[in-house]
Amino acid sequence: NDNKTNNIKVETNGHDNIKENKVVNETVQDLQEARRQLPVYMVRNRLLEEIKKNETMILIGETGSGKTTQIPQLIHEQRLEGAGTIAVTQPRRVAAITIAMRVAAEMNTEIGSIVGYSVRFEDVTSPRTKVKYLTDGMLLREAIIDPLLKKYSIIVLDEAHERTVSTDVLFGIVKLAQKDRADKKLNPLKIIIMSATMDVDTFRKYFHNCPVIYLEGRTFPVTIYHSKMKQDDYQYAAVCTIFQLHATTPANHDFLVFLTGQEEIETVMYNIKQIAKEAAGPPIRVCPLYAGLPAAKQLQVWRDPPPGTRKIILATNIAEASVTIPRIKCVIDTGVVKERTWSGGTGAERLAVRAGSQAAGWQRAGRAGRTQPGVAYRLFTADDFRSRPLHQTPEILRCPLASTMLLLIAAGAEPSTFPLIDTPPPDSVKASLTLLKELGAIDNEVNPKLTVLGKKMSTFPIEPKYSKVLLSAPEYNCLDEVLSLIAVLSSENVFHTPMHKREEAIKVKQKFLSPLGDHITLLNVFKAFCKAPLKKQWCKENYLNHKNLTYACEVRQQLLAICHKLNLTVSSCGQAYDQVLKCLLCGLFTNCAWQRGGAGGGGRYVTAAGAAAALHPACALHAARPAPPVLLYTELLATSRTYMLTVSAIQPHWLHQVAPDYARRCRANR
Ligand code: ADP
Ligand code: MG
Repeated sequence: NDNKTNNIKVETNGHDNIKENKVVNETVQDLQEARRQLPVYMVRNRLLEEIKKNETMILIGETGSGKTTQIPQLIHEQRLEGAGTIAVTQPRRVAAITIAMRVAAEMNTEIGSIVGYSVRFEDVTSPRTKVKYLTDGMLLREAIIDPLLKKYSIIVLDEAHERTVSTDVLFGIVKLAQKDRADKKLNPLKIIIMSATMDVDTFRKYFHNCPVIYLEGRTFPVTIYHSKMKQDDYQYAAVCTIFQLHATTPANHDFLVFLTGQEEIETVMYNIKQIAKEAAGPPIRVCPLYAGLPAAKQLQVWRDPPPGTRKIILATNIAEASVTIPRIKCVIDTGVVKERTWSGGTGAERLAVRAGSQAAGWQRAGRAGRTQPGVAYRLFTADDFRSRPLHQTPEILRCPLASTMLLLIAAGAEPSTFPLIDTPPPDSVKASLTLLKELGAIDNEVNPKLTVLGKKMSTFPIEPKYSKVLLSAPEYNCLDEVLSLIAVLSSENVFHTPMHKREEAIKVKQKFLSPLGDHITLLNVFKAFCKAPLKKQWCKENYLNHKNLTYACEVRQQLLAICHKLNLTVSSCGQAYDQVLKCLLCGLFTNCAWQRGGAGGGGRYVTAAGAAAALHPACALHAARPAPPVLLYTELLATSRTYMLTVSAIQPHWLHQVAPDYARRCRANR
C-alpha cells in the first residue's frame, strides 16, 4: 500500500525486478486453460448479467477463485467499460504490479498497453489502457485532482476487507462520485466491491443495500489444530512444527507458513536449511514470499519443485488473500501480523507485531483447502483464538485524524458530512480541524477549504504538523537540517542501550549530546551516521541502531524528492540551531510546556492542555540546571505519570513570533 496517507512509506527495493516478472514456461494455451478452470470463469455469464444490471455490487469469493485477475478481463471482453477505463484497486503495491503482469500475459498483450498498472513513482499505462490496476492510494491521489473520477466507467475496490484508510476514504469518494455523476448526467459510474471474507452487512447498508453475490469456491474441508499450550516463541514453534510434519507427511504436500516480515522469514529459512541437513524426510525447497523480494525468487513460489521434494513457502500475510499459491496442503499459522501503527510523535508509520483477527485466522487456514482437503496448524491455543477480535479494527479508527481530514478536504469533500463507513469520534474530528486551521492548512473549520499552504502540506506522506515544519524551513534557512530531523523522528529509537552495557552506552551518547536538547542531539547523531564510512561497525561502536538509522535515510530521500517537486530551497543553517528549533515550533506549537510556578519551580511542567508533565529521564535536558522555563516536546508518554519525550528548550517569546494567535489563546487559558 503506497500512498499519500498519514504515514511515511519507504519504497522497497526489488520491485524494479518485478517488471521482468515474465510468466515463464506457460504458453498462451496453458494460460487460457488455467483461466477456464477458475470458479469465476465457470459462472461468468451469470456474473456479467449481474454486473450489467447493477450500478453497485459486492462480490464475495474465496481467495484464488479468480476475482482479481478474471473479472476485469471478462468485463473488458464484453466492452462493458464503454469509452471509459476499468480501475482495480489493491492495498499493496506488489499485488498491483504482479497481478497486472499476470493479466497482461493471459490477454497476450504487452504490459502498459491494454492492461497497465499505476503505483507511486511508477505509471505503466498508456492512453489505450482499459484495465488499470492501481494502489488505493494512487486512486485517492487521482481523486484529489478529479473527485468525480470521470475517466473510469467502472471502479473495482478490491480486498475491501483490509480496510486501509485509503480504501475507506475511497468508499466514500466513489459513492459520492456515482451520485454526482448521475445528478449531472455525466457518464455513469459502476462500483464493484470485492473481498474474500467481509462483514458484508455493514458494506451492504453503506452502499444502499446493493446486491451481494457469493461465488461458490471449490474449497475442500480444512482440519484445524490449535496448540495445547501457549507458545512463547512462535518462530521456534513454527520450525518445530515444520519438522514434525515433514517427517510424517508425503513429499507432495506443500507447506505454507505465515510469518510477519522479511527478516523473520530469512531467519526461519536459515534455520530450516540448517536442520534439514540432518532431519529425516524428503528433500526440502524453501521459498520466501514477501513484498520486497526480487521477482525471480517470487516466481519460485509458483513453480513445482522436482518430484519427491517438499516445497515450504514462508510468507507474510501477502499470501493471506492478495496472491494465491496453488497446491498448499498444510498451513502453519503463527497467528501474528505486522500491523501499521502510528507513532504519537510524527504520526509516521511503524510496524508492530500483533495478534491477528479471527477473520485473518480463517482466511489463512483456508489457503490449505484450495485443491484438496487440507490441514491448518495454529501455533496458539483455541482459547487465544476465541479471545481475538472478529475483524481487525479499521485503520481509520486507529490512525491520527488530522492527515485524513486534510486528505478529504484536498479531495473536495466536507469532513462533517463525508460518508465514512466507520465514523471516528466527533471530538477528535473537531480537534483535528482546529489543528489544521491553526497550522494554516484550511481557511475555516465549519466549511473548510484548503489554503495554498494546505495544498502543499497534503503532498507529504506525514502528519500535517510535520509537513508544516518542512514547508516553514526555507524561511529559516534550515530545510537540510529539518529533513534529517524529521526522518530520524519518523524511525524508531536510534539509540541502542543494551542492559548489560548501559553505563558504557550512556557514556558514548555524551559525544552527540547538545545542550539545546534532544532534537539537536538527534541531528548530531544523524549527521555523524551519514559521514561514517563503515556504518554498521560505526553504529556498533557508538551504541546506535543501524537499521533504524538506515530507515531514516530512506525516509529522508522520499521527503527530499517531494521538496524538490515543490521547488523548496534546500539550504543549511550551519551551527545556528536556534533556527531549527524555531522552525520546529512552526508546526509543533501545540507541544509546549511551561515550568510550573515560573523559574525555580524545579522539574515540574504543565502543558498547553493543562496537564502536569515531567521530563523523561532519557532526555538530554533531564539534568539541566536551572531547568529551562519553556520546553518543546515531541511526544507525551503517559505511564504512572506523564512524561515528555524528545524535548528541546525554547525561548519564551518564540511562540509569539511563530504562532501569535495560538500563543494568545494559550495565554488566556493558562
Ligand atoms: P482472487 O482474486 O479470487 O483471490 P486471483 O484472480 O488473484 O483470485 O487468482 C486466480 C488464480 O490465478 C489463482 O488461483 C492462481 O492460480 C492464478 N494466479 C494469479 N496470479 C498468478 C501469478 N502471478 N502466477 C501464477 N498464477 C497466478
Ligand atoms: Mg484477489
